[in-house]
Amino acid sequence: MIGWKNLIGHAATIAYLRKNIAEEKFPHAVIFSGAEGVGKRLAAEVCAAALLCDNPVDGSPCGVCESCHLVAARSHPDFYVVEAEETKTARNIKIGQIRDLQAEVSLRPINSVRRVVIIDGAELMNKAAANCLLKTIEEPPSQTIFILLTANRTGLLMTIRSRCMTVHFDKLTPAQIAEELINRGVDVQEAQRLSVIAGGSFGRALMLRDSGGAELREAALDTIEKISRAEFTNEDIFKLGAEMADWSRDKFSDFLTHVQKLLWDICFAEVLEPHNLDLVPRLSKINLPERKILLMIETGAQYHRRLKSNASLRLLAEAYLIELKNLR
Ligand SMILES: [Zn+2]
Repeated sequence: MIGWKNLIGHAATIAYLRKNIAEEKFPHAVIFSGAEGVGKRLAAEVCAAALLCDNPVDGSPCGVCESCHLVAARSHPDFYVVEAEETKTARNIKIGQIRDLQAEVSLRPINSVRRVVIIDGAELMNKAAANCLLKTIEEPPSQTIFILLTANRTGLLMTIRSRCMTVHFDKLTPAQIAEELINRGVDVQEAQRLSVIAGGSFGRALMLRDSGGAELREAALDTIEKISRAEFTNEDIFKLGAEMADWSRDKFSDFLTHVQKLLWDICFAEVLEPHNLDLVPRLSKINLPERKILLMIETGAQYHRRLKSNASLRLLAEAYLIELKNLR
């Protein structure tokens, strides 16, 4: 059943939201801001359930009334969700979706005293859609509550930001992520490894578990180790490039991110908290001059940008690996 206990962490934020719901002070437009996969969507759904519930208790949905069942089944007539539509080339929220929403909120709620609208990935609205939503928020249809979810708050129109209250969702700690992974049956060692590389996002930890993220990090580390020992050959590059040609751009982007974070840790592990805490003993054995590492990181950032172009992934990957090798 949908409830606050399903969320990992965020104790203070949950207490704040519950208080607002219990005291009937929930803002009419609110932004939940925070990294992907930290629980914003789940929190918004629990808010919706509590706001639509017939018998909420201290800002929590009762879990047994008809409303609660309908929200959990995503079929409550006064619960409306807008999500980005994904095509091969883009992922965005189109103006048509916001117009449909506008039409919906112009009507009175059906089952409940109010209506709750979640806009997931609000930064993915194009300008026309965002302006259309702005008009809707500016002239609030009575009884409608808007919850905008975003991993990139500054990507929202300033005018939208200024009309919404913002609630921040922090990243989760590795310990929180590991604990939940273990609860879900992941073995302890794997849970600890994933929790460290998930970057504070439980959603990302799950994705990494499903896509072999730990192996990807190992491939990144293996590449750096070989480069540092001058054992990275043109054959290695050709072989790796051929393998990467079959990857998605997202997967290559993840590989790049691993290389960047590992290089960062080699350079700064003594002064900053390392991203790859579990690998510190291995990383400390890598011998690369700091100046070279910084150049490698700069190169990685360039290739991250180039990934957005239409260039062939294989060519990009090979060019990147060659540059890394030559930088040594
Ligand atoms: Zn209920």
